[in-house]
Amino acid sequence: PSEPARRYDVSFEESRIDPDVQKVIRRLTRHGHEAYLVGGCVRDLLLDRSPKDFDVATSARPEEVRELFRNSRIIGRRFRLVHVLFQGGKVIEVATFRRNPKDDGDESAELLIRSDNVFGVASEDAMRRDFTMNALFYDIEARQILDWVGGMADVERRVVHTIGDPETRFREDPVRILRALKFAGRLGFGITPDVYDAIVFCREALALAARPRLSEEILRLLRGGQARRTIYLCWETGVLDVLLPELSSLLYDEEREDGPGVRQWRLLEYIDRRSAEVGGLDDTVLWTLLLLEPLKEACDGARDRGSAVADFLEPLIERLALSRRYADGIRRIIGVMPRLSAGRAGRFARTELFQAAVEVAYADLTARGESTATLERFRSSAPMSPTPHHHRERPQPSRRG
Ligand code: ATP
Ligand code: MG
Repeated sequence: PSEPARRYDVSFEESRIDPDVQKVIRRLTRHGHEAYLVGGCVRDLLLDRSPKDFDVATSARPEEVRELFRNSRIIGRRFRLVHVLFQGGKVIEVATFRRNPKDDGDESAELLIRSDNVFGVASEDAMRRDFTMNALFYDIEARQILDWVGGMADVERRVVHTIGDPETRFREDPVRILRALKFAGRLGFGITPDVYDAIVFCREALALAARPRLSEEILRLLRGGQARRTIYLCWETGVLDVLLPELSSLLYDEEREDGPGVRQWRLLEYIDRRSAEVGGLDDTVLWTLLLLEPLKEACDGARDRGSAVADFLEPLIERLALSRRYADGIRRIIGVMPRLSAGRAGRFARTELFQAAVEVAYADLTARGESTATLERFRSSAPMSPTPHHHRERPQPSRRG
């Protein structure tokens, strides 16, 4: 018995919604289940952006979904959801409605959510989500948006607002702090004052979050096409002091016209410009550019650049579970940069990191306002593609919607 939602008539062009996801929803509803489009895709449809993927939420249990779709499998242990597979490796994620276990009024429950696999009804599934704009459900048959949380109004006002008390929601899952900043930066949304204050107040809790989630979320901050704006928000709120103090301290250094702080902002602008040009940058390139000015500072006067970089990265590997693969890539790129900028590539030209290193060297010269002529001949005509999906760090499934 789901409590009634506010319903809004909308008419998204049919072609904007993946036909396979429409099939999945129709099949579920034909078999007597509730099924909706949910989360980021509904938000993006409303904002006239093209959704990255389409997620489905349903009243059907994982086993029931599994039985309706021949080509499907149940994944996850603590948080079980169903992947329905389509041609070309396309996967549609179908999740059973869940509720926030904290809403059971269990006083003994810890504030930090550790397990979130409690089934619920549609309204509860909306309420357990992070931000109001991410909690809208779309009923494709009725062509209506279902809103239990005031998400429509917030999308119209273009603000990021938590569902419920911001401090409570950030303490439950501190990664939401980064998500708030990511959405604000990427979508150009404002952050309501109560949410902003809670971000500032709770930022230290980020140190308690699962570290692989932090490093993955940092990459997402950089990938949205608005890295500069998003990192600025992280810096302004002091969140960057918690995550990457080695970067935030340097960004303060803006007295000089051409100091490292100014150059670092230009590097972030470069990320955005270049991502738009080539459709996304490789993850190792993103990490290196995010940290480039601090990395260069760490190398200043060092006899062995490689070990200076390794020493610099060690605490990040600890704090953020930055993977060894990225750390190693960063170290090798920084090591080869002086040679590249001088127009010498040597054997490095045959390594798989070559285009990544050229990209970083190019960004560096650009941010310093210097000529990139020495690098032009290294730039392959085919732009380097971003890290393929199967090489990416897997997001932690336990918290996904
Ligand atoms: P993107 O376009 O970046 O994928 P998204 O909104 O789809 O944005 P996802 O990380 O894919 O974000 O998550 C899908 C949905 O799951 C979100 O829209 C939100 O409703 C819910 N969700 C994700 N992370 C959390 C979280 N930490 N706490 C509560 N709800 C979450
Ligand atoms: Mg998504």
